[in-house]
Amino acid sequence: MEVAVNLEIIQKKIGQACARSGRNPEDIKVIGVTKYVTIERTKEAIDAGIKNLGENRSEGFLEKYNHFGEQAKWHFIGTLQSRKVKEVIDKIDVLHSLDRISLAKEINKRATGPVDCFVQVNVSGEDSKHGMEPEEVIPFIEKIEMYDHIRVIGLMTMAPHIDDPEQIRKVFRKLAALRDSVREKGWSHAPCEYLSMGMSNDYDIAIEEGATHIRIGSKLVGS
Ligand SMILES: *Cc1c(COP(=O)(O)O)cnc(C)c1O
Repeated sequence: MEVAVNLEIIQKKIGQACARSGRNPEDIKVIGVTKYVTIERTKEAIDAGIKNLGENRSEGFLEKYNHFGEQAKWHFIGTLQSRKVKEVIDKIDVLHSLDRISLAKEINKRATGPVDCFVQVNVSGEDSKHGMEPEEVIPFIEKIEMYDHIRVIGLMTMAPHIDDPEQIRKVFRKLAALRDSVREKGWSHAPCEYLSMGMSNDYDIAIEEGATHIRIGSKLVGS
């Protein structure tokens, strides 16, 4: 299916989820996850109007970045190995996977300016998932205040691979509550306004629970 056709279907579902939850579709950013697809297909996404692209590995990211450069905003959504920070950090616009002190330290050392980051949280407790435990989030953010290149703009999670929408909803709701408690701290290095949650199979539920950044791969560009 053409990306433009998929995007139209997704935008319609976003509109419906916003209507159900009293939200404005303009507050939701669609990140086209191109990790599965070619340069040609990525170009189709850009031509369809996708302005934000997501990649989860540094090799795949650099290939796309070297090709498209500033034609898109770049979201790094996968685990970032500390030894890769140097080659990618000044090229990405947003990191969705800040998950440890050692990574914050390396980013602080290598970045030449402030980096917008989401702290990745393992809300569901599935041990196959990356991210820190919910209880660790506030102490973690407090600790990284000393790294002045890190700006915590929000929290990110991945829902578990289950079919029960109410279980998935609970995960998103818990992340939203945690985001609220970080925001209440009023930390200047952590405005923590945003929620990166929702993928191809659950973005409608994520929007109902407050998602501001949805990361869509297979249902937008294919897999
Ligand atoms: C692959 C990936 C996505 C997109 O997954 P789809 O189910 O294909 O939409 C979103 N977020 C992360 C972190 C991913 O690795």
